[in-house]
Amino acid sequence: MKRTINGKEYDTNNLWYVGDPCYVVDDEVWYEFCQRTYSDKAKAAGHSYWEDHCDSIIQWDGETITIWSNGGDGTWEFSFTETKKPLNGRRSSFGVDAGIFAIMPLKILDIDMMTTERLMGLGMIFDKEPTLHVEDGIVYVNDQHDESVTECPDFRCRRIVTWDEIETCENGTCEGCFQCFECDCVGEEE
Ligand SMILES: [Zn+2]
Ligand SMILES: [Zn+2]
Repeated sequence: MKRTINGKEYDTNNLWYVGDPCYVVDDEVWYEFCQRTYSDKAKAAGHSYWEDHCDSIIQWDGETITIWSNGGDGTWEFSFTETKKPLNGRRSSFGVDAGIFAIMPLKILDIDMMTTERLMGLGMIFDKEPTLHVEDGIVYVNDQHDESVTECPDFRCRRIVTWDEIETCENGTCEGCFQCFECDCVGEEE
């Protein structure tokens, strides 16, 4: 199959989807898909692969699919570098409605009747096989953390922190996280 994305034609053998499988697996086989994720064997495979948040590993349409979860439904947003970005663009997101998400090769998705525009609104599409994992409640795609967290603005620290763990001094010039914050500008004007 061919897909035209951003004006360029791609072979669907060389494209990957990152998002909730429920949008791209046909309703007629969705029950079967879920049954596989619920099996003890699939759960055990997931948990032995990655203890934190790996839900299950299943076989689907001849492919091995590693399925992740992150505490429920929601939208995970990313700000990618140029080399790690999906075809959707550097600022991209995917929504989760069935509580799970995965990398799936485009060739096995039930999307023949779906426009590319609709598909790109449901998940992220990559022309190089991406990586995906979840750790400490943070989703990583191509090792880029989701935007629920950020790097500590103090370049010496480099911790991954949530936005409300960032502290700023009253002059707005010194920034750091709850671990490293120190104001060193107060009094300099005197
Ligand atoms: Zn810090
Ligand atoms: Zn300061």
